[in-house]
Amino acid sequence: MSLDVHLVPLLQDNYGHLILDRAAGVAGIVDPAAAEPMLAALAQHGLPLAWVLVTHHHTDHVGGIPALRAATGCKVVGPRADQQRIPGLDLALGDGERFAFGSTSAVVLDVPGHTSGHIAFWFDQDQAVFCGDTLFSLGCGRMFEGTPPQFWGSLAKLRALPPETRVYCAHEYTASNGRFARSVDGDNPDLLARLDDVARLRALGQPTLPSTIGLERRTNPFLRADVPSVARAVEADAADPITAFAALRRAKDRFQ
Ligand SMILES: [Zn+2]
Repeated sequence: MSLDVHLVPLLQDNYGHLILDRAAGVAGIVDPAAAEPMLAALAQHGLPLAWVLVTHHHTDHVGGIPALRAATGCKVVGPRADQQRIPGLDLALGDGERFAFGSTSAVVLDVPGHTSGHIAFWFDQDQAVFCGDTLFSLGCGRMFEGTPPQFWGSLAKLRALPPETRVYCAHEYTASNGRFARSVDGDNPDLLARLDDVARLRALGQPTLPSTIGLERRTNPFLRADVPSVARAVEADAADPITAFAALRRAKDRFQ
């Protein structure tokens, strides 16, 4: 594994990710809501910023790009399906294409649902995925632009990655997601153990991320829409996971 990942808290609850390939001597930044904290983190490592990687068009993922570009001359890679909404993309990629970064590379996955043009970067050799606002630990993004079949398809695609894959989400939402997860999957011992870990980490002011695909498969209700007890909790049928996912998403939107 050549990728070294640093979480940088931004704004209220965003994470930007500083990714370092020390073997190749290059740095990247994923989803910079703001530039200054990312530049400060970058300066600690003394590597040039080669790329900003963008998962989707929302301001809290692209806001830092102009200042990062002006300060470093970096290039920007993002979703082909949304290139009109992300000004200044140097490289637009879509599903299945490979993005070369230093001595390693990522497979681009189209994961629409939160937005219509959302992508994830799966560094398969490094066992890491940067999934923006599609998948959160114990949750998923709001369905602003997509449809339930799209969103379920995206989550199923992420769920199928190797279980050891580290999941780098763009927000620290795990504790609040966990309250909803418990309401629909409260008999799940893996979820209860994760909630204990989350409470301990947050009490220490530590991030709950990265998670792993394996852990999310066992604990995230939105990846468990096809588990009978989870589907029943929202009066849906696990045999129809798209409808069960949609019911879970609606229930979460109403959850206090
Ligand atoms: Zn977003």
